[in-house]
Amino acid sequence: EGKKPLNFIEQIIEEDLQANYTKDQLKFRFPPEPNGYLHIGHASSICLNFGLGERYHAPVNLRFDDTNPMKEEQEYVDAIKNDIHWLGFKWAEECYASDYFQTLYDWAVALIKNGDAYVDSQTSEEIAQQKGTPTQAGTESPYRNRSVAENLDLFEKMKNGETAEKGHVLRAKIDMAAGNMLMRDPIMYRGLHRNHHRTGDSWKIYPMYDWAHGESDFIESVSHSFCTLEFLPHRELYNWFISKVSKPGKLEPKQREFARRNLSHTIVSKRKLLQLVEKGVVESWDDPRMPTISGLRRRGYTPESIRKFADSIGVGKRENLIDVAHLEFCVREDLNRVAPRVMGVLDPVKLVITNYPEDKEEWLEAENNPEDESAGSREVPFSRELYIEKEDFKEEANRKFFRLTLGKEVRLKNAYIIKGESVVKNDQGEIIEIHCTYDPKSKSGSGSEESMRKVKGTLHWVSVKHALKVEIRLYDRLFTEEVPDGDKEKDYLEFVNPDSLQVITGYLEPSLKNASVMDKFQFQRIGYFCVDKDSSKEKLIFNKTVGLRDSWAK
Ligand code: ATP
Ligand code: MG
Ligand code: MG
Repeated sequence: EGKKPLNFIEQIIEEDLQANYTKDQLKFRFPPEPNGYLHIGHASSICLNFGLGERYHAPVNLRFDDTNPMKEEQEYVDAIKNDIHWLGFKWAEECYASDYFQTLYDWAVALIKNGDAYVDSQTSEEIAQQKGTPTQAGTESPYRNRSVAENLDLFEKMKNGETAEKGHVLRAKIDMAAGNMLMRDPIMYRGLHRNHHRTGDSWKIYPMYDWAHGESDFIESVSHSFCTLEFLPHRELYNWFISKVSKPGKLEPKQREFARRNLSHTIVSKRKLLQLVEKGVVESWDDPRMPTISGLRRRGYTPESIRKFADSIGVGKRENLIDVAHLEFCVREDLNRVAPRVMGVLDPVKLVITNYPEDKEEWLEAENNPEDESAGSREVPFSRELYIEKEDFKEEANRKFFRLTLGKEVRLKNAYIIKGESVVKNDQGEIIEIHCTYDPKSKSGSGSEESMRKVKGTLHWVSVKHALKVEIRLYDRLFTEEVPDGDKEKDYLEFVNPDSLQVITGYLEPSLKNASVMDKFQFQRIGYFCVDKDSSKEKLIFNKTVGLRDSWAK
């Protein structure tokens, strides 16, 4: 552990421990708003906060920032919990900002009594017009100096829904000339006569993010509240709100900021991802093309690969774009370690071994994972008629083509050396069969002189009469642009890749017959695949997770 240089967040904590914090004061939180499914950007924040928890043996709360009933749903709460759990993290307490609505309300009343908050009865347009500019002070609201009694009365009526929904807001009374625009009497509450997924119709007013977030951290005794950089200007307000409720002896949380992580060829924003679902661009939040945790899981990603990805990009102070190829590298590396090898042909052409007896079949031993001896071996059936990949054969080829051609030898994986003899073509001139001969003495692993013969290529194959016919879903990038939402003038939906999903039929060795949902395999020489949840016993469906290499090796 201690060897890895500290990142700037860890440095902040180390300095605090040197100064006035004790180890058991450390406490962190991950604070999602349940308005969508978690995405790969959230994985960075999860790994950061829970990673700190592991490093410092400190509790990490899961806090749902559920202050906006318009967009939040129980379905999202459940999905978020499931995803964090699947990533392998355990939260200390499951908390909800909505559990603090009463406390927040009581504190707001105290602020009113103290002259720190007032009810403003202007429209939101009027309030916006009075904001001023960074170089010009704003205008004070005509309601700013309402009496405490009138404020208390109105605020209570707002709470009870006795005033029009948009009639009033509660604002903090700070400074309309503040250099930081966020300090110009920010809104603390708005009226919203909406049902909340947890508090039902109890509340007709809802706290704004700035008011709720820091106070929630304070209530939970969070020591360090890490958020993304856009909240840097909010820090002053965060501290101001906490100073209004803090009391001697109680730890004040500290907000610090780190850079958002973006991934190329996709978007990491719940709002935009929701649009993809609603507009039917993808099938669901867990569509394997989605950059959501649930999409990646369904695509065949392992928790380890996502954690490794998050750890390897680390935390930074500047926003940057991570190439999706790096994420693919991480899953490839992990699956290489754990995925059993099997043979499957995705673009078949028939290979007939003319000197192999018609009624014969034999079961050949095949190693399950060369990276893992304990994975053992299995048997695959071999017979006179096989499928091989179309692109593994050329009638004539130059010396760099290490696959099958007429007159040359290659090895069939786990089986025999064969030699191309002739082809059968249809009327359109397409090859429908390749005829070859095999050397019966060249069986893999037999130790015979013939089996040791050097041949240039090894091909995967599947016995035609034993093959499992399955559906295979191949995925490409969801967007054609590196940064689909980078152009302010253009809608990111214009850059959706129309060919991001291709459905084909594949032929697999029969050992896969009992594969279950989420099982992961390496289809040798092709890539990593996993069984999709749409799969059934009658019809197996596989998702391509990622190719073996960045692109097909030629
Ligand atoms: P979105 O725009 O997708 O809704 P958000 O930041 O509003 O993102 P929250 O539910 O508030 O989503 O996020 C929970 C935590 O995850 C926050 O602390 C947030 O800063 C962090 N987070 C969200 N997106 C990223 C990202 N791309 N990279 C790093 N951290 C992120
Ligand atoms: Mg947010
Ligand atoms: Mg958001």
